[in-house]
Amino acid sequence: MTYQRFVGSAGARRRYWARSHVGWRQIGEARPNAGHRAVAELERRGLLAGIVTQNVDGLHQAAGARGVIELHGGLDRVVCLSCRERTPRAELERRLREANPGWEASGQINPDGDAVLTDEQVAGFRVVGCAGCDGVLKPDVVFFGENVPRPRVDECFAVVGGARALLVLGSSLAIKSGLQFVTKAAALGIPIAIVNQGPTGGDAGRHAHPGRPARSHADRPRLPALTGLLNTISRAAAQGVWGWRSKGAVQGWRAHRCGRGRMGRMPPRTCPCGLPAPYRDCCGRFHRGEAAPATAEQLMRSRFSAFGVGDEAYLLRTWHPSARPPRLDLDRRVRWVRLEVLESTGGSVVHTEGTVRFRAHYLERGEAGEMEEHSRFVRLDGRWVYAGALNG
Ligand SMILES: [Zn+2]
Ligand SMILES: [Zn+2]
Repeated sequence: MTYQRFVGSAGARRRYWARSHVGWRQIGEARPNAGHRAVAELERRGLLAGIVTQNVDGLHQAAGARGVIELHGGLDRVVCLSCRERTPRAELERRLREANPGWEASGQINPDGDAVLTDEQVAGFRVVGCAGCDGVLKPDVVFFGENVPRPRVDECFAVVGGARALLVLGSSLAIKSGLQFVTKAAALGIPIAIVNQGPTGGDAGRHAHPGRPARSHADRPRLPALTGLLNTISRAAAQGVWGWRSKGAVQGWRAHRCGRGRMGRMPPRTCPCGLPAPYRDCCGRFHRGEAAPATAEQLMRSRFSAFGVGDEAYLLRTWHPSARPPRLDLDRRVRWVRLEVLESTGGSVVHTEGTVRFRAHYLERGEAGEMEEHSRFVRLDGRWVYAGALNG
């Protein structure tokens, strides 16, 4: 289904939703496999700068991965083409059931998660519009003929640019939306490993920057920086071929053994706080507990970075006990991308109190947003802690 057909024809939309409605039960029953769990585990160990997926089934998140950018969107939600409101797919499914009492159809389910139905089955199906404005509803995924939203692409470029290596798992890289990040990494001199069944668009020789990417799959990767990662994947997946149902040509990928390598941490290359230093020498020192921020602004920056890398423990221990929430559930869909410090008062090495006004930029499902806060900081036992937002 192309975007143009979906938008241009009520009949095409009826066919899409009828097939998708029948197939949804199967999609809803899909569970993460060893591959998804391995990626989540790599992230949990702090080895990933980020995860970009072309899958729309939400299984990385279901396996516990947090910093997932869904390049092609996700099937778990729908978007209204008129008012742009996004609503849960489950809600639409409920409304479709209500609008189609007694309509029952079944057919072979294909890997995209829709069922093969006859014209008669489709003809009897009633489509519903946006609950708010009756506009046309579309799954919040990128169709053929449709562009990935620019902010989302930029977000992926930022993740790739900040990474020390690019690992491609289970993609033929046949289309530009995925291949462009490999091209970018190659241009930046970032080592690349591709694990896939069969050749890919990113293999050396097929590429705008030939010679950089390591051909993988059967080969032992030639790049020592990646052997630790690949070892981890191999161990986590207990070897063998992992079934990997997804859109398009990719049907599976194979973990393969490679030489023993030391596993290295993969922190972001530059610190999320915006200071021109590598994360490990900047806020990373505070997060690891090796040093304490000397000023209120330093603490503020390190807390922003902690949001960026998802360090909840650091956020909680730098919160004044009187204002500290019992726990934090960081919203995994929000990616903190840039910090602007607007003004600060006090908060130096000689002060015991200080304030910082800042603007924080984030991306949520590819949409850019920002928030401003005037925060108060105090010293507690000599260390700066966050005491909450100032009123007004
Ligand atoms: Zn609407
Ligand atoms: Zn920093």
